[in-house]
Amino acid sequence: MAENGSTNQSDKILATNAKFVPTALSASGGEDLACDSDACDPVDWQTAMRLAVRNSKQLLEILGIPFGRADSSGSGDSAVFSGIQGEQDFPTFVPLEFLRRMKPGDANDPLLRQVLPIAAEDVPQQGESADPVGDLDSLSAPGLLHKYHGRALLVVSGACGVHCRYCFRREFPYQQESGPVDRWNQAIEYLQRNPEIEEVLLSGGDPLTLTDQALSHLIDRLETVEHVRRLRIHSRMPIVIPQRVTDRLIDRLTGSRLTAWLVVHANHPRELDEHVLNALARLINRGIPVLNQAVLLKGVNDDSKILADLCRRLVDHRIQPYYLHQLDRVRGATHFDVSVDHGRQLMKELREVLPGYAVPQYVVEQSGEPSKTPI
Ligand SMILES: *Cc1c(COP(=O)(O)O)cnc(C)c1O
Ligand code: SF4
Repeated sequence: MAENGSTNQSDKILATNAKFVPTALSASGGEDLACDSDACDPVDWQTAMRLAVRNSKQLLEILGIPFGRADSSGSGDSAVFSGIQGEQDFPTFVPLEFLRRMKPGDANDPLLRQVLPIAAEDVPQQGESADPVGDLDSLSAPGLLHKYHGRALLVVSGACGVHCRYCFRREFPYQQESGPVDRWNQAIEYLQRNPEIEEVLLSGGDPLTLTDQALSHLIDRLETVEHVRRLRIHSRMPIVIPQRVTDRLIDRLTGSRLTAWLVVHANHPRELDEHVLNALARLINRGIPVLNQAVLLKGVNDDSKILADLCRRLVDHRIQPYYLHQLDRVRGATHFDVSVDHGRQLMKELREVLPGYAVPQYVVEQSGEPSKTPI
C-alpha cells in the first residue's frame, strides 16, 4: 500500500486546491478542514453546509479530475460538466465531509457518481416523469403525504445536505409545500382528525437540515396529537455531515414521549466512514434504532459484492438494512437505472452470503399502491 493512506491523499488535495475552496473556508482556517480529520475538530454542521461545494467544475478540480473526462456511460463520450440544464435545475451540492471519502482522480468513483451532474441528465428518456411516485396526488394538507395506512409523511424541508442526481424529489415543488413557522397548522389538524395515523415520518428534502430548535418545536407539536406514537426521521444528513448528530438532537429524540426511529440513506460501503459510524453509534447507544435504505444505482452499487459489503458494514455497526429501492423513473436519472432482472439476481446473491436479517427488502414505489411493492 502506498505511504499515503487515502485520507491523507484527499486532505492534501483539499489543501493544495485552496483557491477552489469557498472563501468562508479559508477565512475560518482552511488548514483545519484540510487537516487529518482525526486530529482536528470538525466544523459544526451548519458551517459544513455553508462550505459545501456548489458546482461540478469545482468538484472535479478539487478531486484532480480533468474537466470533461468523466463520462456517463463508459462509452468514452466525454460529458460537459457546466451549463448542462440538469445542473441549472438542480445545482451541485456536496459537503467536504462527503467529498473527502471520494478517491482523488477517479472519475468513476461511486460516491462522486451519485453527486456529479453529467450530460446524460439532459437527454429525455421514455417513461420518465417529474413526479414518478404520484406524490402530488397524495397531499392531504400542505406538506403532508398520507399514502399508507397508519403513517403519514411530513415534508419538513426542501433543503438537503447533498444533492443526489438520482433523487426522485429533485423536481418536487417544495416552495409550494413549505412556508412560515405556522406552516404545520393544517398538517397537525389533519393528523388530529385521523386517529389511524400512529406514526409520523419526517422527510423532505432532509428534515435534519432544520435546526435543532425548529425540529424540537415541530416535535412539541406532534407530541400534542395523542394517537401519534412514533416519530420516524428519514435523513441522509448523518451520512454526509455526521456532525449533524448533535447531543441536543439525541436528547430531544430520547426525551420525547414518541418512539423515535432513524432511517439513514447510504448506497455504498465507503459512505460509512468512522465519523459516520461513530455518530450513528451515539444514537444507537441511546436506544434509537437506526435503519438504512439504499437505492440500486448503476455504476454505484449494482454489484452483489458491493451490496454485501454495505450490508455487512451496516450490521457490524448495529444498523439494519431496511430497503433497497428500485430507482424511480424521475426525469434526468435514467442513466442510473438497473433492470429489475439484474436487481433480482443481486438479491439472490445477497441472500446466499448474508444472514437473513442483513438482507434489505428490494422494493419499488408504485403510484396508488397501499405500500412499497416488494420485487
Ligand atoms: C415510503 C413512504 C412511507 C413509508 O413507508 P414504509 O414502508 O413504512 O417505510 C410513508 N409515506 C410515504 C408517502 C412514503 O412514500
Ligand atoms: S432527498 Fe435524499 S436522495 Fe434526494 S437529494 Fe436529498 S438527500 Fe439526496
